[in-house]
Amino acid sequence: MKRSRPLKRKTKRAEPKRVEPDAVDPRSVDDDPVVQGILTAISQKRLKPGAKLGEDKLASAFGTTRIHIRQALAHLASRKVVMQIPNRGAFVYRPSWEEAQDIFAARRVIEVAAVAAAVDRLDKSGRAALKAHMELETRHDRNDRWASLSLTAEFHILVAKLAGNRVLLDMSRELMLRTSLAIATFEQPGEPDCSPDAHPDIGALILARDKAGAIHAMRHHIEEMEQRIQPKEGADEVDELTAIFKEIGARSRAGA
Ligand SMILES: [Zn+2]
Repeated sequence: MKRSRPLKRKTKRAEPKRVEPDAVDPRSVDDDPVVQGILTAISQKRLKPGAKLGEDKLASAFGTTRIHIRQALAHLASRKVVMQIPNRGAFVYRPSWEEAQDIFAARRVIEVAAVAAAVDRLDKSGRAALKAHMELETRHDRNDRWASLSLTAEFHILVAKLAGNRVLLDMSRELMLRTSLAIATFEQPGEPDCSPDAHPDIGALILARDKAGAIHAMRHHIEEMEQRIQPKEGADEVDELTAIFKEIGARSRAGA
């Protein structure tokens, strides 16, 4: 059948050239102050897995509207750091034990690749950035727990930056956050994710362009982190979200 042109002209106004939604860089949403604030609180372990993220409280804390908060929470849910439950609200994501193990398995793959590429691509500016960061980690006050947590995470982000791969960098950022949630869930909250002496070793090996050594040290560092988490046992450790979902399931069955 021949195309009927008049139908196409049903709307008089010419369609403006639309920018496709995928042209919006989701990373730009990360710069939102609410998103930034929540991400920082999670990476510094001030916000614990399972913590309720009330819209009203957040709106007044950030001096913004509930709509803005809702948008920020929806974005964070897409990043798997927030969990939204219908009629219940938003909570800091709490990974399962299986997921926590998957996070570390993914980190081994990603960070070994990142450190190898970082050695390959190391140039003058990368060398300077790495030295400057190592200097910072040595000099900062380790009693300042919050600063210390951010700095150790930054080391891993820097290695991914030195690898010069934008996708790998995004994945590393995501994995760092999810690691913080895994460690906070399965270890004592407030503890640093990284053992403090591992980074100088890895940094020195990158600067020496010892690829095999740097890979070995990074893998060992991540394995060490992973060994610190333990599955929680006993009835008192029943996952809060699991309990909530059970209740919702029971309700919807009751309503049906
Ligand atoms: Zn580390």
